[in-house]
Amino acid sequence: MTPPRPHHSRRIAVVGAGIAGLACARTLRQAGHEVAVFEAAPQPGGRMATVQTAFGGFDAGVQYFTVRDERFMQALQATASDVVRRWSANAVRVLDERGRVVEAAPPAPESHWVAVPAMDRLPQRWAEPLVAAGALHLDTRVWRVAHDRLSPGRWQLHTDGPGEDHPVQAGFDQVLLAIPPQQANELLQASTLSTAPFAALGAVDVAPCWTLMLAYPNATQPGLHTLGPQWNAARSTHHRVSWLARESSKPGRVAVERWTVQASAAWSREHERDDPARVSAKLLRAFAEITGIHATPAHTEALLWRQARTLAPLGRTHLWDGAGSIGLCGDWCLGCRVEDAFVSGLELALAVIAA
Ligand SMILES: Cc1cc2nc3c(=O)[nH]c(=O)nc-3n(C[C@H](O)[C@H](O)[C@H](O)COP(=O)(O)OP(=O)(O)OC[C@H]3O[C@@H](n4cnc5c(N)ncnc54)[C@H](O)[C@@H]3O)c2cc1C
Repeated sequence: MTPPRPHHSRRIAVVGAGIAGLACARTLRQAGHEVAVFEAAPQPGGRMATVQTAFGGFDAGVQYFTVRDERFMQALQATASDVVRRWSANAVRVLDERGRVVEAAPPAPESHWVAVPAMDRLPQRWAEPLVAAGALHLDTRVWRVAHDRLSPGRWQLHTDGPGEDHPVQAGFDQVLLAIPPQQANELLQASTLSTAPFAALGAVDVAPCWTLMLAYPNATQPGLHTLGPQWNAARSTHHRVSWLARESSKPGRVAVERWTVQASAAWSREHERDDPARVSAKLLRAFAEITGIHATPAHTEALLWRQARTLAPLGRTHLWDGAGSIGLCGDWCLGCRVEDAFVSGLELALAVIAA
């Protein structure tokens, strides 16, 4: 249902349909504003992503999320309670280079939540009202924001959208960038915008992350249910690997034994220019050292997230230049979690509504 448009309704562009952009766009729509969301990828969700393979899906980005913020809890309960479930990860422990426990799991860890049947289901659900309203433009990268010559005081977006029909989207009162800081910086610099209100962006540091996905379909043969360790998720002090999780242990997934391995921020940064085959071989060796699994996987795939994990956040929920009518949000404002992205998008929307 289209929300009622208030007297003061504005036309607002949101760039990026990750969790921050979706939270922002949904809140603005609920307040009666006309919103158009532009997303470079063929699907919404950003780093809350699923990679599908012949052996089942992998949560290639977000592994699980926490629910500490009351407003995030309410949004999940109101709109997505049927697509989120608790994941019993056997309590996450910390392991050393040889897979020995160096830090036991805390006695009462907070709940780990995942979307079912795959992580991308949550952003897809939250995108549904935007899709129904024709307000989500996928495969549409925004590369420049400029003053709208036909409509003074408004903005237009130059896009790499599909087809030749609508490369320029015009007539926006406000433009909100819900994208990682490096991309935001590049877009601001390519645009007719003053970057001065966003100088604080320069202090934000977001590290890359190499992610390795491994499938062992033979482990589901009779008498052999899992390979290697009996735990399902662990942090690691290994110099290459910071996180490992058995994908098949998450609720609603297919049973084929599958592991996701995340390289540490330092190692990912050092190997950012390496080719995926080289990275796969190195991370596979580290995986074997930690888990004791030496079998050859039937599926090996390495993926580099260039802007993955915030090391130094902005320290406030969003950036809003009321004079220029431009705003920025994303997990990097507050930290490196899904909840941070949600809160940032929500807070930027509330600031825009109040403006
Ligand atoms: C490997 C990995 C593991 C993680 N694990 C966890 C975890 O276990 N728990 C947790 O809570 N968090 C985790 N995170 C962090 C989590 O993914 C993020 O906090 C959250 O998803 C960020 O959402 P966002 O909307 O701020 O940004 P993003 O998800 O990055 O969304 C930005 C969107 O903007 C689009 N975009 C960028 N530039 C443009 C442009 N010019 N035009 C149009 N569209 C554009 C992108 O395609 C993307 O869809 C992990 C991240 C990674 C990479």
